[in-house]
Amino acid sequence: MSPEGSSSVLGADLGRTWSVRAATIRGMPPDLHPSLAEASTTPYWLDQEDRPDPRPPYDVNGTADLCVVGGGFSGLWTAILAKERDPAREVVLLEGNRIGWAASGRNGGFCAASLTHGRANGAERWPDEINTLDRLGQENLDAIEESVKRYGIDCDFDRTGAITVATEPHQLGWLREMVEENPQATYLDQDAVRAEVSSPTFLGGVFEPRDNALVDPARLAWGLATAAESLGVRIHEHTRVSGLARGGAGLDVRTDSGAVVRAGRVALGTNAFSSLVRRVRLHTVPVYDYALMTEPLSPDQLDAIGWRGRQGLDDMTNQFHYFRMTRDHRILWGGYDAIYHFGRHVRPSYDQRPETFDLLARQFFTTFPQLEGVRFSHRWGGAIDTCTRFCAFFGTAYAGRAAYALGYTGLGVGATRFGADVMLDLLDGVDSERTRLEMVRKKPMPFPPEPFAWTGIELTRRSLAAADRNQGRRNLWLRALDRAGLGFDS
Ligand SMILES: Cc1cc2nc3c(=O)[nH]c(=O)nc-3n(C[C@H](O)[C@H](O)[C@H](O)COP(=O)(O)OP(=O)(O)OC[C@H]3O[C@@H](n4cnc5c(N)ncnc54)[C@H](O)[C@@H]3O)c2cc1C
Repeated sequence: MSPEGSSSVLGADLGRTWSVRAATIRGMPPDLHPSLAEASTTPYWLDQEDRPDPRPPYDVNGTADLCVVGGGFSGLWTAILAKERDPAREVVLLEGNRIGWAASGRNGGFCAASLTHGRANGAERWPDEINTLDRLGQENLDAIEESVKRYGIDCDFDRTGAITVATEPHQLGWLREMVEENPQATYLDQDAVRAEVSSPTFLGGVFEPRDNALVDPARLAWGLATAAESLGVRIHEHTRVSGLARGGAGLDVRTDSGAVVRAGRVALGTNAFSSLVRRVRLHTVPVYDYALMTEPLSPDQLDAIGWRGRQGLDDMTNQFHYFRMTRDHRILWGGYDAIYHFGRHVRPSYDQRPETFDLLARQFFTTFPQLEGVRFSHRWGGAIDTCTRFCAFFGTAYAGRAAYALGYTGLGVGATRFGADVMLDLLDGVDSERTRLEMVRKKPMPFPPEPFAWTGIELTRRSLAAADRNQGRRNLWLRALDRAGLGFDS
């Protein structure tokens, strides 16, 4: 397809999105793409028969050296690394819902080396430390691979590498810049990229062999929980923490049921949920990201797309797609829309967005027309904790007794392990290469309160979509954000 063709298909898709949205608002069942008719609304990864039973809630007062709040990757890695550093340390982990039920169990399963939501974002903000950040990111991904092996975690961890594809001619120059910056990267011209994964929309690509692994994220979270328990961590699910208060030489961690953990130190891995440290609440906003999963492809369908290397793929538009294969030959297709709801709320009802699913399905068949007839088995969404610099920030509260790592903005599957190490360094008072990083010492600008947050984010979203339709040309608003260091470019 010509680039003009792909833009006009996108324009038609956007028009259709509005009509589906209007139907939803009018209370009519939206006319979804037929491929979605039977898709389950449970996130694919969580829809597994051998999902572990919940651990009992925390219901009596007790003590711990370290209390970890949150049972996603952030909290789980913190608990494991705390024990690895000091096996005698008593660690308790409190999860308000289920282990891995939130972002950690419903993401694309791209476990990336980048700590900075891509090298370009990191290089723009910290040009003097980007090489260190890249090295630390590779070491972090190596360490995840090693831990998965050591603890025997069955999560389909596969270091397949990543291919970034250009779907518009103006993006080909950006591909060449990527190759110049990464000595391990290979440029793929149109024939070469289509030989890897066959799509008429791909004009070129870059293959980065070591920068990404694919995982089954829910199984990774469940496996990390088992590993943490094998080290002596006590895990309690369905235990929401309602507040922190100074207690003795540490902090009292109060749960909804009224039970209290008196902890020497507290690590917060609460992601997009309202932070227990009030002063950082304006630093993140929950933004909803959506994904589809196909049924397993038949041998003929597999032949039609190639993709023998099972690399993780993304494209280069501001509103980008990410897509990958599972071991049983399904395709996960996600991204594009990023939806913020007025008021910073995280609500289960936001996990489903028919107009986004419809749009994603149409874009999928534009990318892979040879798969016409394939059906989606699952459709779901989840909240990501977006901050104004698009990668994690860190800090302490309560005179150094509590630490937090937040703001991963949709690239936290791998980076949360690095963030866990940073939190432990901060809590242990360790002066390390990590804690000396400007990325760790400095915080991003907060978002403004409502209604300015919603207005600014919506304006940015529409401007990014317009830039995608306009050969990447950024309007005045985006250029102003770029100048203020708040611009996002995938
Ligand atoms: C649809 C989607 C696709 C994504 N795709 C990718 C991807 O492919 N690659 C990638 O790197 N990243 C991706 N991400 C982002 C990634 O999933 C997150 O960055 C990462 O999982 C964050 O882990 P976490 O532990 O910080 O957060 P979460 O997994 O959200 O865990 C936070 C936990 O804290 C608990 N909690 C919160 N407050 C309290 C409280 N007061 N008391 C007790 N418990 C509490 C919550 O119940 C939750 O379980 C995606 C996200 C989404 C939603």
